[in-house]
Amino acid sequence: MDIIQVLDKKFRVTTPEAEILKRVDAVAQQINKDMEGKNPLFLAVLNGSFIFAADLMRRITIPCEISFVKLASYQGTTSTGTVEEVIGISENLAGRTVIIVEDIVETGLTMKRMMETLGTRNPASVHICALLQKPEKLKADIDIDYVAMRIPNDFILGYGLDYNQQGRNLRDIYTLVEDENTNIKGNMKNIVIFGAPGSGKGTQSDLIIEKYGLNHISTGDVLRSEIKKGSQLGKTAKEYIDDGMLIPDSLMVDILASVYDTFGTQHKGVIFDGFPRTVPQAEALKKMLADRGHQVAAMIELDVPEEELMARLIKRGQESGRSDDNAETIKKRLDVYHNQTAPLIEWYQKEGIRHHIDGLGALDRIFGDICQVIDNIL
Ligand code: AMP
Repeated sequence: MDIIQVLDKKFRVTTPEAEILKRVDAVAQQINKDMEGKNPLFLAVLNGSFIFAADLMRRITIPCEISFVKLASYQGTTSTGTVEEVIGISENLAGRTVIIVEDIVETGLTMKRMMETLGTRNPASVHICALLQKPEKLKADIDIDYVAMRIPNDFILGYGLDYNQQGRNLRDIYTLVEDENTNIKGNMKNIVIFGAPGSGKGTQSDLIIEKYGLNHISTGDVLRSEIKKGSQLGKTAKEYIDDGMLIPDSLMVDILASVYDTFGTQHKGVIFDGFPRTVPQAEALKKMLADRGHQVAAMIELDVPEEELMARLIKRGQESGRSDDNAETIKKRLDVYHNQTAPLIEWYQKEGIRHHIDGLGALDRIFGDICQVIDNIL
C-alpha cells in the first residue's frame, strides 16, 4: 500500500527505504573520506534526525563521537526578540571538527543560527549533514557540506519526520497527496499576523514560514527595500516612515496586490505581516483576495502590553539602527496603531476570524498557541 492516512491527511511513498539507505551510504562514505584522522563529533538535532543519525552512524567507519542536541527558542534580547539556544552540548567543542546532523534544511535560518552559536565555542570547523534539503526554499547564506537528497518544496513525512508528531516511525519517506476532490483554495492558508509595532509579528512570521512553508509579505520590509534601492516609491515612503506615519492606503493596496500576484494562483498561503493597518486596507485586502477566489483564513492578534512594546522597540533601535525605532517616532507609531490600526481587531472579530494570542512570555509558548490556530484551519 503506497498511500497511507495520517491524522486527516493522505501521504504517498516517494522515497522507499532502500533508496534512502543508498543515499545515506553515499554520504557516509564521503564523510569517511573527508574526516579521516579528525575524530569528528556528530551533533544530531532532535527530534527529526534520530533515525537518519542512527543509520548514518552505523556506516561511519572512522573514529568518531555522537551527541544529541535540541533547539529551544526564547523571548530574548536580540534585535528580533528571539534567542535560539542549543540545549544538550556537554562536550568541549574547542578544536573539534563538528558535524551537525539535521533531518531537513529548508530556509537554512535555523542552521545559520546554530552554526553561529557553535562557533562561539571555538571548534576547529563546523559542517552540516542533512538528510533532505529543499533548494527552492534556501534563504540563508550557508554551505551544506553533505546532503543525502534534494527534494521539491512538498510536505514530507516518515523516516524521523512528523506530521503533528505522527509518522516518525515510518520506514519510507512520504509526500502529502493533495486530495483532487478538495479545492486547493480551501486549503490555502492566508493569515494576517496582527499586532502593534514590537509585538513580535516578524519573529513569529519566520517561525510560521519555516514550519508551514507559507509565503510572506511584510509591507515594512517591502518599503525598506524600496528605500534602499532609492526608487521613487522608496523616497515617498521614507518621509512617512521617518515621521512614524502610515503610507497612504491607495499606494499600499497597489503594492500589496502586485507582491501577492508574484506567488501565482495556487500557493499554500501567505502571511500578511504589517498589512492591513487600517480598515480601508482590510476591506481592500478582502476584495483583492475575493477577486482571485481567495480569502483570509485567520487573523492572529499578538497582544502585548504597551510598556513592553516600548522597551522592545527601544532595544531594537539600539541594535538594528532602524531609523523609526527612536523614542519619539516609536511614541507616534504606537499612537497611530491605537488610532488607525487597533479598530481592525473589532473588524476581524465581526468577520469571525480573529484569534487572540497573549504575546507576552516565552517565544515557544506563543508560537505553540499560533500553531494551534493554524492547525485548526488546515
Ligand atoms: P513595520 O516594519 O511593519 O513596522 O513598518 C514600518 C513602517 O512602514 C510603518 O511605520 C509605516 O510607516 C510603513 N508601513 C508598513 N506597512 C504599512 C501599511 N500596511 N500601511 C501603511 N504604512 C505601512
